[in-house]
Amino acid sequence: MSLIMKNLADWKKSRIKPEEIDKYLNKGRSFIDQEKILSLISQKKKVSRLRINEILAKSLSIQTLELDEVADLLSIDDPEVLSRMQEVALTVKKKVYDNRIVTFAPLYLGNFCVNDCLYCGFRSSNDKAIRKVLDMQEIEKETRYLCGQIGHKRLIVVYGEHPYNDLNYMIETIRTIYNIKEKTRKGFGQIRRVNVNAAPLSIEELKQLRKVGIGTYQVFQETYHRPTYARVHPAGTIKSDYLWRLYSMHRAFEAGIDDVGLGALFGLYDYKYEVMGLAAHNRELENKFGVGAHTISFPRLEPALNTPFIQQSRHKVNDDDFIKLMTVIRLSVPHTGMIITCRETPQMKKKSLSLGITQTDASTKIGVGSYSDSESGQKGERQQFILADTRSLEEMISEFARMGYITSFCTAGYRCGRTGECIMDLLKRGEEGKLCKLNAVLTFREWIDDFASQETKSLAEPLIEKEINEIKKIMPKTFERFDNYYSRVKNGERDLYF
Ligand code: SAM
Ligand code: SF4
Repeated sequence: MSLIMKNLADWKKSRIKPEEIDKYLNKGRSFIDQEKILSLISQKKKVSRLRINEILAKSLSIQTLELDEVADLLSIDDPEVLSRMQEVALTVKKKVYDNRIVTFAPLYLGNFCVNDCLYCGFRSSNDKAIRKVLDMQEIEKETRYLCGQIGHKRLIVVYGEHPYNDLNYMIETIRTIYNIKEKTRKGFGQIRRVNVNAAPLSIEELKQLRKVGIGTYQVFQETYHRPTYARVHPAGTIKSDYLWRLYSMHRAFEAGIDDVGLGALFGLYDYKYEVMGLAAHNRELENKFGVGAHTISFPRLEPALNTPFIQQSRHKVNDDDFIKLMTVIRLSVPHTGMIITCRETPQMKKKSLSLGITQTDASTKIGVGSYSDSESGQKGERQQFILADTRSLEEMISEFARMGYITSFCTAGYRCGRTGECIMDLLKRGEEGKLCKLNAVLTFREWIDDFASQETKSLAEPLIEKEINEIKKIMPKTFERFDNYYSRVKNGERDLYF
């Protein structure tokens, strides 16, 4: 074995800490009860209207649903009841998040990976992938473009699992991103929140990651169905350890990170099972740590270069089922953020908005290094999968404005310590919504003045005016301070928040 291969093998061996799995198990079993989930979703009984109304009333009072209630919603096929569920989903979203939508950009920092997930273009056995890991100069260039030319304030940084992308690299890259400030038309641009999507880490590593000031820590379970998990993650890889991944968020909480994102990759197994898995995971976090997931993601399997598994998968989710699963997730975890990505078409994104989605990426490029070097970076060889929505942030903001949605660049929550239990409590009481409303207007004003064309500006102004009138009405005591901040932002001051 060459020295490099030996080092890699040692590194792989050192990653998983069995004691950081075992201590969370209950008599050796995890919180995913496969038999129970399968039995709940395979019951053929007809759910009465009365029962559905009771469940919907619970969602409307912003309570997390129990697994049997989630299963009952998933069993609905009657178009009339489904349409009622969609209406309630939107009402729930408006109650918690009002008419706001948050945008961000993914930033892929490297595509080296020791794992071999059958569905991923970055998998180690994909010899057609051209590998690249960005150095700090390249990251600076990407960040300057994203915050200085597009106007993003939030990023999600995405890493493969490899010694090149180890914890030290993660920390250095996040610091580099936070340090950049770029002059704009009227003020300056800056990334104010870096969320992280990375492989599972140990408690000690998570403690260090927390210190850099990350936003949400995301790890998608991919599939909660253990036999499928074993099939798509070849034995011997780090990722093949289902439980090491399943307890990532437990370790995050223990390390003091209370803002976590769950996700499942839809298309690997029965979508109903995955929704139940997400609900069970969220419930487990609520029970153990007093707070559930901050966000839930539900990527659908997309074609990737030289990845035939995707065409062969028997569980690909069609549009109707996708709409249903988004509706059920919204109703099941009423106060949790929901993220849709550019894997979906503009039409599906538009539809998802009417079902209660709260966040989306925009101006997305997922080739490593492709924001500032669109020529080489965006090619399939450096991309993880193929995008379905390539619209610019400005195009999306205009569409949202036409639909009556205000795009929020607010990143105040975690910077003011409003995370975890605190934010969930505020969200449940509708208080965080009020602060978000103020911050949404301030940050939208910043973006409009710094980046919008005249056409987008004319769409945005009436929306801002409407919001300001509402603020005056519902928060008369705060209005004076808000008005002061608003005038200062208009004059070019940046990053004022509640
Ligand atoms: N390496 C880390 C991991 O696996 O957790 C994080 C990076 S991975 C690039 C981010 C996510 O992309 C994965 O968790 C998976 O859900 C999703 N993904 C992978 N292949 C995909 C595909 N072909 N289509 C859609 N999403 C995919
Ligand atoms: Fe690596 Fe993540 Fe892709 Fe799996 S999904 S091959 S772990 S980058």
